[in-house]
Amino acid sequence: MAEELLVTNDAGKTRQVVVGSFARFGGGTPVVIAGPCSVESERHIRETADAVASAGAHMLRGGAFKPRTSPYAFQGLGLKGLRYLATAGQATCLPVVTEVLDVQDVAPVAELADMLQIGARSMQNFGLLRAAGRSGRPVLLKRAAGATVDEWLLAAEYILVEGNDQVVLCERGIRSFEPSTRATLDLAGAVAARLRSSLPVIADPSHATGRRDLVLPMAAAAIASGLDGLIVEVHKDPDRSISDASQTISTESFASLMRKLQLPPRTRDLGLLRDAVDDMDEAILGLIDRRMALTARIGDEKRSRGLPVWQPGREEAILQRLADRGGSHLSPAAVNDIWAAILAASRTRQGRASAQEGR
Ligand code: PEP
Ligand code: MN
Repeated sequence: MAEELLVTNDAGKTRQVVVGSFARFGGGTPVVIAGPCSVESERHIRETADAVASAGAHMLRGGAFKPRTSPYAFQGLGLKGLRYLATAGQATCLPVVTEVLDVQDVAPVAELADMLQIGARSMQNFGLLRAAGRSGRPVLLKRAAGATVDEWLLAAEYILVEGNDQVVLCERGIRSFEPSTRATLDLAGAVAARLRSSLPVIADPSHATGRRDLVLPMAAAAIASGLDGLIVEVHKDPDRSISDASQTISTESFASLMRKLQLPPRTRDLGLLRDAVDDMDEAILGLIDRRMALTARIGDEKRSRGLPVWQPGREEAILQRLADRGGSHLSPAAVNDIWAAILAASRTRQGRASAQEGR
């Protein structure tokens, strides 16, 4: 690769790739992505997400559009699966990554997923790479089973050239003469790619080995090689995985892998957590402001009908309904306090002459 390339610019330095609130690839602490090969049902992905989150995973994986060798094999739940994945990710605060197979799916997948995965079979689908580059989402680019490190880096160049430098490379095994594993984990190639570029590189010990019993040692080897993270297939009942059962580890084995790797707990990245809280505060403020605009209109309606602004029965009903619903992290008393303040502000707002009056 003689030309000047974006991908080899700043070789040796590490570009950080940030995904959601828990994952900072290239930040010095390995990022661990875990989850099933395929999203199988709403309940299943939620249970797996809960288990991998409490074991300390930083991100959730799950295939909704599956690149199966046979067109007759399970092809994934599609957008419905993606919605289940996104909901499970939100509930556990885990950013989600999922594979996108078709250019036409890039926009809908980018809307729901925090990171797009380009699978090994698509590594040289240049139209898809360009579309992922324009998606506005970070991209996880898997190495094709038959690609050299140069070809892999040039595939990344297609994403970078579209103005997206948030790319993480993933070594997932290459095809060799050795039949005892599904592929051959090329850790040396992965480290070489990392040295040649500024992109973070992670390893996928699941697809690289195809064997549950080799996932833990290869994961440890990848981390010992200084790679930036892992993507691991995990299932509550691995033998019943719809796809890739033989390489999928149980939630218990995953917890033991995380203990062995001794990574800092995911909540340690205080900076990212605070950024996420700041984002949420902005969103909440925007919603409350919209609520105020609506209640001001209601105030005008009340006035034009000669009704009083303060209607204690209606306020009590709102408070009761929300307190009953609560939230898994929100007590009824906390809900009551928050909405009592919102309702008081609404009442003050409605007390003014008209919705046009502003604040
Ligand atoms: C996957 O991660 O779900 C997958 C299909 O991997 P690969 O593209 O590496 O085969
Ligand atoms: Mn798989």
